[in-house]
Amino acid sequence: MYREAELYEALEEKSVKCTACPHYCIIREGLSGACGVRKNKGGKLYLLAYGAPATLAVDPLEKKPLFHFLPGQHVLSLGTLGCNFGCDFCQNWDISQAMKLARVEKKKEFKEEEFFQPTWPPEKLAEYAATQRIPAIAFTYNEPTILYEYALDTFKLARKNNIKTIYVSNGFASLEAVEGISKWLDAINVDLKSFNDAFYRKVCKGRLKPVLEAIRLYHEKGVWVEVTTLVIPGQNDSQEELGRIAEFIDSVNPQIPWHVTAFHPDYKMASRTSTPAKTLLKARDIGFAAGLDYVYVGNVLHSEAESTYCPSCKKLLIERRGFFVSLKDFSGTCSCGEKIAGVWS
Ligand code: SF4
Ligand SMILES: [Zn+2]
Repeated sequence: MYREAELYEALEEKSVKCTACPHYCIIREGLSGACGVRKNKGGKLYLLAYGAPATLAVDPLEKKPLFHFLPGQHVLSLGTLGCNFGCDFCQNWDISQAMKLARVEKKKEFKEEEFFQPTWPPEKLAEYAATQRIPAIAFTYNEPTILYEYALDTFKLARKNNIKTIYVSNGFASLEAVEGISKWLDAINVDLKSFNDAFYRKVCKGRLKPVLEAIRLYHEKGVWVEVTTLVIPGQNDSQEELGRIAEFIDSVNPQIPWHVTAFHPDYKMASRTSTPAKTLLKARDIGFAAGLDYVYVGNVLHSEAESTYCPSCKKLLIERRGFFVSLKDFSGTCSCGEKIAGVWS
């Protein structure tokens, strides 16, 4: 069940240019793009991963993390194989890098099609969420932008069923892809992994500028945006770099929640040390000093720094401890009258 892509241009001699992400791969007939899920067949581009999750689970929304979006509720979450990044610290590398690893191993025998079983078409996802009363569907675990057409069809059906729609993304999306999905997308958590373009190129195999542009555009289009930075000791944890990230978010909107989360050794960074809680608490202070209203630590248990306070009167509004959430009597407005930015119902 391969779906012809919407985001591509036909070129001469049956080549195509994929326009889903800023790699803008030029793909010759019979080959796939850098993400491994979009393939040129006979001069047309197809999404091979359409309907074919490699992982499907029901997660707390706090796990995405989204803290200002239906707190305490759950989300049907899926991801496929493949990704347009190749981060050395990826925590889902077994699925995100599966295509690249298999291509190296199998060489000429490699056929992308063997990796995709279309067991969850959009209709089935929307129907499952509706019958199980799961209030949201998220494309997460690997980069959703490379799955643009699968997400688009799923989100249209989700809307019909009153189900909210979510991306958890590296933000490396073309402006065409952001424009196209925003109308159907309720919320996004974007990783802003660094403020250093050299880091993006070397460690993630991407670039910084398109990520910044995408964050701005998603916000302008009215999608609820939260931002996450995985703080890696010795890589992106300097006061200066964290300050520049916080200032950027503040320049888009100070009400965008910023999650500063702990790195745990994985993939090509398996020999490094985890991020100490004190580094995250320092990052949180940096975020507040830059003017942000909501900064949260993640991947460590620290109830005070995971909870939501009114930026005006400092009252505790949502108490969290890991995935335990207590809303008290909060439903979007503090008793002092301050409206708290987010989607609360
Ligand atoms: S989505 Fe995939 S095929 Fe398209 S430009 Fe990005 S990496 Fe290339
Ligand atoms: Zn208040």
